[in-house]
Amino acid sequence: MCVHAHPDDESSKGAAMMAKYVAEGHEVLVVSCTGGERGDVLNPRLANDPHIARDLAQVRRDEMAEAQRILGVDHTWLGFVDSGLPEGDPLPALPEGCFALEPLSVTTEALVREIRRQRPHVITTYDENGGYPHPDHIMCHRVTMAAVEAAGDPDAFPHAGAPWQPLKVYYNATFSKARIAAFHEALLALGEESPYEEWLERWDRMDRPVTTRVECGAYFEQRDQALLAHATQVDPDGAWFKVSRETQQRIWPTDDFECALSYVPVTTPDGRTPDGPLGPVETDLFAGLGLVAEADALATAEPGQRTIAWDGRKESTVPWPW
Ligand SMILES: [Zn+2]
Repeated sequence: MCVHAHPDDESSKGAAMMAKYVAEGHEVLVVSCTGGERGDVLNPRLANDPHIARDLAQVRRDEMAEAQRILGVDHTWLGFVDSGLPEGDPLPALPEGCFALEPLSVTTEALVREIRRQRPHVITTYDENGGYPHPDHIMCHRVTMAAVEAAGDPDAFPHAGAPWQPLKVYYNATFSKARIAAFHEALLALGEESPYEEWLERWDRMDRPVTTRVECGAYFEQRDQALLAHATQVDPDGAWFKVSRETQQRIWPTDDFECALSYVPVTTPDGRTPDGPLGPVETDLFAGLGLVAEADALATAEPGQRTIAWDGRKESTVPWPW
């Protein structure tokens, strides 16, 4: 289960990983917390399209359906309303009724219901700072972590389905400085212009410990097609597509993740734990889960019969003015 804030986030973070697991026979469900109703039209070719201006919410639903088809995943809407990206100093208030202002108990119950229905062994979401400071991305993290904690507890939300404990939780680590720097260097080596220089110069996020790299270069084309399906959100001439697919497959053929929580030991090929110097890491989000029946038994066990084997959770360091 991959939990995302808006339609299009699933195609820019971990999409090739999802396509790979679908191809290998896994069931993959994308959960979009909001409908992306307050997104801007970021594709200059569609900037003044009256059809889009009239009903962006419907356009984004259609775009999401196409991306879902391309990736071969299942998809569900959690049904909350996009908070929009507040800009200015001081930041303006968030719009009434938006996702980020909903009581956490309400949003958490909605996701708990999905978790208990879908019964995922593994969940991906955003890190404690949202990956980038959009209120919906930060809230997506909070809701996911609260729902993961509650879903296996029979006393929590007893009317939202039978308890089911997701066994591993990962943060998307697609947008690491190391990866963007590698893209930048690759473009310079080819004598091409790089759109990443300024981004790298003002990079102010901390480096995240990547614990898991999933080889999925063969699915980059599917990922790019899914991203392009979000036509209002993606400029086909923009920075996303400056590095050729072949170069990406050569220099960075993986989708990367940070393990936040695991009820099974997190093992790396050389037996190290992921808090040491970054090096050889997990290559599979399902590593350590064993047979499906074993994982199911652990996910449905009484809470006292499970222990957290790896806890990489941290306190958020971004301000929350709302
Ligand atoms: Zn988003």
